[in-house]
Amino acid sequence: TFRALVTTAPVDGKSQSSIETLDDARLPDGDVTVDIEWAGLNYKDGLCLTGQGGLVRSFPHVAGIDFAGTVRSSDDSRYTSGDKVVLTGWRVGETHWGGYAERARVKADWLVPLPSGLSTRDAMVIGTAGLTAMLAINRLEALGITPASGEILVTGAAGGVGSIAIALARRLGYSLTALSGRPQHAAMLQALGATTVLDRAEFLAQPDKPLETARYAAAIDCVGGDILGKLLRQIAYGGAVASLGNAAGIALNTNVLPFLLRGVTLAGIDSVMQPYDARIAAWSRLAGLFDFAAYDANVEEVGLAALPEKAAQILKGEVRGRVLVNPKA
Ligand code: NAP
Repeated sequence: TFRALVTTAPVDGKSQSSIETLDDARLPDGDVTVDIEWAGLNYKDGLCLTGQGGLVRSFPHVAGIDFAGTVRSSDDSRYTSGDKVVLTGWRVGETHWGGYAERARVKADWLVPLPSGLSTRDAMVIGTAGLTAMLAINRLEALGITPASGEILVTGAAGGVGSIAIALARRLGYSLTALSGRPQHAAMLQALGATTVLDRAEFLAQPDKPLETARYAAAIDCVGGDILGKLLRQIAYGGAVASLGNAAGIALNTNVLPFLLRGVTLAGIDSVMQPYDARIAAWSRLAGLFDFAAYDANVEEVGLAALPEKAAQILKGEVRGRVLVNPKA
């Protein structure tokens, strides 16, 4: 048997979750069974746990879009019992049972061997958030952005993806502006490597013009909506924006002048369906680049029982940095 946080079908648009002890026969189909040591909490987990966004279609459900642990048994030649593994994406935690349990059964294709030098906890400090931040930086570099290009703007800065993006980009020598709706976290953002912290309300209150003063060489945008619309008009000639999130909404109201007159590129980033080789490359770069000791002040550990409350908090933009889930706690 194993303990899991089981989420029920939404009633009046709201799901409930409770801890249950389940028989191993309840595990979904798959070729590798993993004893989970750590899972992460991401914005999408907030949606799945509360029953919003229509991501989960089949109930009862076990949420948790990323986890790390040890292989318990495997029918696939690539993995044997005792191997340390990480899983992010592939819609695990949405269409397949995920990481909010002591055990999971998944497809071997979805797993990545734990990068050398990392613990399973390290892997979940990074998690989907860090992987996505790394993919965004990789993409900006591929588009020609270097530290010499100029300042990079990171939005949703105090959240998981934003805070790790700042830490990683700083290590690579970039100069960073953090856009945050929570000025109370300015010291944290500066400690991670932001030179300037910009208040979200002040940024949005600047007068809108079809093209605004070019301030940033590039941006990593976790929030979408009006913020993405506005920041595109402040990107300098030849610059690029990595769009990866929608915490402020899915709308995008902008105009084509940044593209026509400044040659700006808007690049979409998806971590969920990333091919295996790109994942391995990103994890290996993360393992060499990320300063775990420097980031640890932004990590909070919780057990399964705290997740419903944490889910509500992350959807309200009230979580700082990364929340790690210990399924045994
Ligand atoms: P998170 O920890 O909640 O971070 C989101 C941050 O956005 C918040 O901390 C907050 O930062 C800001 N924010 C929240 N609500 C906002 C609002 N209404 N208006 C403006 N800003 C708001 O979540 P996360 O896990 O880092 O994910 C961030 C986003 O990226 C989510 O939309 C998520 O779905 C997406 N994501 C996408 C991928 C992908 O593969 N494309 C992977 C991971 C995550 P401040 O308080 O500092 O402003």
